[in-house]
Amino acid sequence: MLICGASFAGLAVARELAGSGADVMIVDRYEIGERQTSACGIPTEWLRATGLIEAERQRFDSLLIHTPHGSRRFELPWTFSTFDYRELCELLWRQCDARFETAKVNGRAAATGGDGSIAIDTDRGVLSAPLVVDALGWRRMLASGDGYQPPDAPLSRGLEVHPEGSAEDLEIWIDRRYVPAGYGWSFPARDELRIGVGSFDPRFHVRETTELLAEDLGRDRVRYQGNWIPHKLRRATEGGIFFAGDSAGHCLPLTAEGIRTALYFGIALGRELRGVVEGRQDRDAAAAAYARFNDSHEWKFRWMLRAQRLVPRIPPRILAPLIRLLGNKRFVDWSFGHYLQIAPPGPLPGSADDQQRPGKQQGDANDPVRRQRDLVEAE
Ligand SMILES: Cc1cc2nc3c(=O)[nH]c(=O)nc-3n(C[C@H](O)[C@H](O)[C@H](O)COP(=O)(O)OP(=O)(O)OC[C@H]3O[C@@H](n4cnc5c(N)ncnc54)[C@H](O)[C@@H]3O)c2cc1C
Repeated sequence: MLICGASFAGLAVARELAGSGADVMIVDRYEIGERQTSACGIPTEWLRATGLIEAERQRFDSLLIHTPHGSRRFELPWTFSTFDYRELCELLWRQCDARFETAKVNGRAAATGGDGSIAIDTDRGVLSAPLVVDALGWRRMLASGDGYQPPDAPLSRGLEVHPEGSAEDLEIWIDRRYVPAGYGWSFPARDELRIGVGSFDPRFHVRETTELLAEDLGRDRVRYQGNWIPHKLRRATEGGIFFAGDSAGHCLPLTAEGIRTALYFGIALGRELRGVVEGRQDRDAAAAAYARFNDSHEWKFRWMLRAQRLVPRIPPRILAPLIRLLGNKRFVDWSFGHYLQIAPPGPLPGSADDQQRPGKQQGDANDPVRRQRDLVEAE
């Protein structure tokens, strides 16, 4: 099996195959954990459920939202954490028993074997495998012909700076001074801050306003990093290839939260592929089951996209009182509870919690990925 991309989605797939006896090769153009591509914020429970809590840097039980006409603190019903990217990837990698090689993937190559294997062209030569995963991010490099080209694609763009320093609050800014459609953020991570701006409109250049936000906060503009962020769910399988994470548009619209969803769908995909390795199903059956699982989330992504389109249309004068109104505990508990359930955490197999759970061999009916899959199959 070949997994292309060794970030959140790719490592989550590989993790699910550990101990299955599968010959798994994972490739990335960089070493594991070398290139951070996000502010690395995630619900704390996801770190716990996947045995990755050691990578946590800072934890927050509230979110401070700023608008031009006032600020409001939302007391969250669950905590959110920032983590260290390199450490998290290393922890994930320790849960895998795959092989790793650095290689730049160029795209698909013509298949030669006639045995159903899929050939992938890399700068280290052609690699072939019967099962291939594209976890390469938003470019969806291994798809045939439906590639997205920014700015004419459902992509947002984000840029951040990482100055040294510390702060108490997880903060976001909904303010047209920084971005007409999108938001700015400051995510503290113990000894550094991740300050950035994300625009839902790919044509809006976020560099100047990322610098403006950092300046307004009195922080250095150093260590830039940015990327395109997909905001539309895509097909989970195509041409025999399996897609997970940003390559499948698994990043949530409105919030641009794509780490837990990359882990969530990566785990779901890893389980289907494990079924193939263990002879319980063939590739087509795995593709059909994973596609059903993916598609069963489509309406949730569609609602998030609707909200993403609506928020920038709200006049700034109305935004502040609206945010104050929405900040009441009942609404926050309800909305953030539902939001978490799009890709819920839980004692996922392989985590430290899981080792202590009874009935591990039979699988756990409380496991969220399994539960979602069971629901999809029951439909
Ligand atoms: C500025 C910014 C801040 C963000 N902050 C957050 C946040 O705080 N929380 C959150 O949940 N989400 C955040 N996101 C979104 C999040 O980063 C993505 O949704 C997430 O990284 C997707 O994970 P992935 O594994 O699918 O892809 P990626 O993390 O993009 O990983 C793709 C991997 O493929 C490799 N690769 C790419 N092309 C090739 C190639 N041709 N050959 C070989 N290897 C290749 C890359 O090196 C990388 O390792 C943010 C995004 C941005 C841009």
